[in-house]
Amino acid sequence: MPKVFVVLGSNIEPKSRYLDLALAELAQTYPVGFAASSAYRSLPYQGLEQAAYLNRACTFETTQTANVLLESLLALELKLGRKRTGLHWDERTLDLDIALYGDLVLSSPDLTLPHYDLANRDFFLVPLLELDPRLVDPRSGQPLRLLLEALPPSLKTQLEPWPDHDQG
Ligand code: ADP
Ligand code: MG
Repeated sequence: MPKVFVVLGSNIEPKSRYLDLALAELAQTYPVGFAASSAYRSLPYQGLEQAAYLNRACTFETTQTANVLLESLLALELKLGRKRTGLHWDERTLDLDIALYGDLVLSSPDLTLPHYDLANRDFFLVPLLELDPRLVDPRSGQPLRLLLEALPPSLKTQLEPWPDHDQG
């Protein structure tokens, strides 16, 4: 079974609650090899004027095809209240992106794997490396650790570990 890595993001309160709810549902739906990273706060990418994001990643194994998995993730976004405004990079209660689907490399109108912007996002790379420090980007062949080291300062989001405040 392919090992999948999904990155979760939220920038509408209660952010950690949205992430917890999503992770609980994902763990139930995809129990095989399920693990979740800790949470990180990131400032909006490329200087967008938005609230800070909270990001976490998770991994699991599934026999679902990448397209079926994407549909199921989009359904979970809607279930947890995401409103689509039609704006790209709009604020969101929950964003679920497939970062990696095994070593699959593909580009279609609906789905790009690995995620098209994986190499540029510290808020993807850091939680993914927490889950598996040896991950490699199958598109470039580069270890994620090296992609993170090579990230230019202009793309950094001041990522920091975020304690789980509203746990309990
Ligand atoms: P973004 O995640 O870039 O902020 P959206 O969450 O609004 O944008 O996603 C828009 C579309 O991106 C989704 O409907 C999906 O079809 C497409 N998409 C392409 N590749 C991926 C991927 N690897 N993971 C998730 N969505 C993807
Ligand atoms: Mg998305």
